[in-house]
Amino acid sequence: MTAKAAAFLRRDNGATPRLVIDLDRVERAYGAFARAFAEARIFYAVKANPAPEIIARLARAGASFDAAGPDEIALCLAQDIAPERIACGSPVKKRADIAGAFRAGIRRFAFDARGELQKIADAAPGARVLCRIQADNTGAQWPLAHKFGCPRDEAVCLLSDAATLGLEPLGVSFHVGSQQHDPARWAQAIETSAGIFSAVEAATGQRPRVLNIGGGFPVRYLEPVASIERCARVVGDALDRAFANRRPEIMIEPGRALVGEAGIIETEIVLIAEPGERDGRRWIYLDVGRFNGLAETAGGAICYRASVPGRKGRAGRVVLAGPSCDASDMVSGNAGACLPSDIQVGDRLLLHCAGAYTHSTSSVGFNGHRPLALTCI
Ligand SMILES: *Cc1c(COP(=O)(O)O)cnc(C)c1O
Repeated sequence: MTAKAAAFLRRDNGATPRLVIDLDRVERAYGAFARAFAEARIFYAVKANPAPEIIARLARAGASFDAAGPDEIALCLAQDIAPERIACGSPVKKRADIAGAFRAGIRRFAFDARGELQKIADAAPGARVLCRIQADNTGAQWPLAHKFGCPRDEAVCLLSDAATLGLEPLGVSFHVGSQQHDPARWAQAIETSAGIFSAVEAATGQRPRVLNIGGGFPVRYLEPVASIERCARVVGDALDRAFANRRPEIMIEPGRALVGEAGIIETEIVLIAEPGERDGRRWIYLDVGRFNGLAETAGGAICYRASVPGRKGRAGRVVLAGPSCDASDMVSGNAGACLPSDIQVGDRLLLHCAGAYTHSTSSVGFNGHRPLALTCI
């Protein structure tokens, strides 16, 4: 929640749909991570919200950055962020983009397949590589596991071969799935990683030195979630158990948890259809939906808390939908949303904790609906 963004929206009558980001709230979230994970280096996953103002604020606070493609890298370099503070955490990169990143001075690259390792060896000779492994994503509201990560034995094999390709086998990375509700997932993946460290050491005589525990830290959308402090305790205990006194350097890559709660989307109510006009439910159509900022509402995965400032009627269940002529353009999931009964067409409706994966995923203008605008305050 951000009272500052809500206050800004009360006095500023800008066009909707728009996202307002409270940069102080982003900085506070970073501070909470830096305290909770005191031994870790924090790489902000730029894709969560690549606004230059956010990058600049986090850079000033001391963050490093996980940048996937050339434009995210350029964005960081444009803020005078040193290449040592940028890592390429995506395991899928074009050869030319690896070469470009290497020319810019970036040396940390992730991979999860031999083809990618070979590309890095060719285009970024001598670079430091992290092997992304499969991690159990159970408990994540936005899982990533089906697409990324190699099995344990393959990781041992690829990391062992990295040195013969002229690369430095830096370590292991994983992602337990975004908006992960169960901190035990990190503990599980840390234990697997420790086994890989030992196996690579046994095979090559050289022990990897970095463990990247990824992102996934949850934001409070509707339900309470595990705090960053609790996640950090579970991670710390798991590191003690798995690595004892041979603790690796730790990288973390939070995206959602650094920017999610700093953002509010303001949208306009375009149409209200009463229960008798539809399926017995009250339908509220907004000027924002799946195609102009709310990509993560797909299949009801992420549900935002909605409110309508100034309306005090009795709360009732409604269905929230986007404006486009596409049936999948739904905003609320199966449970619907809870809104005052006296809302009117033209009212401004707020969607809370909407700072992550909204602005940058907005389409260029599907169905003639305006992309989500962004203001950082
Ligand atoms: C998206 C991504 C992250 C950030 O994940 P969150 O769930 O937003 O914290 C971190 N690392 C990598 C490699 C990613 O692709």
